[in-house]
Amino acid sequence: MTESENTLQKEAPPTFGCLNCGADLKFKPGTTSLTCEYCGAKNEIPVLDTEIEELNFHEYLRKHKAEGDTVEVQLVKCQGCGSECTLEPNITSSLCPFCTSPLMASSAQLVSVIQPKSLLPFKVEKQEAITAFRKWIKKL
Ligand SMILES: [Zn+2]
Ligand SMILES: [Zn+2]
Repeated sequence: MTESENTLQKEAPPTFGCLNCGADLKFKPGTTSLTCEYCGAKNEIPVLDTEIEELNFHEYLRKHKAEGDTVEVQLVKCQGCGSECTLEPNITSSLCPFCTSPLMASSAQLVSVIQPKSLLPFKVEKQEAITAFRKWIKKL
């Protein structure tokens, strides 16, 4: 593992705040920048040149699990709704994102998960997707 990967793991996951005013940015499918709803600033999305390849899940598990391509996270099960959430390493308590029950890090389990290397953006808008789905279902 390289040093940069090591430091990445200790940091909180990147949030997408507006560079101008810090507000939360929302992604609009089909765009390469995030326009702030509050101040109108355009925030470019960094695009990597490296090709994103689709990996066979089982093959990947066999090859890479041994190579330590995983990160350890605190997994905590919500007592309220039974969902499983991960907590940041420096967080000792939080609220369930689904039902807002309190989550305690003391009941968390340390588990290894595969950290995604890249993300593919959505290509269609939510409303467009719903329309396409309705059209498809009518044809059946
Ligand atoms: Zn802004
Ligand atoms: Zn919950």
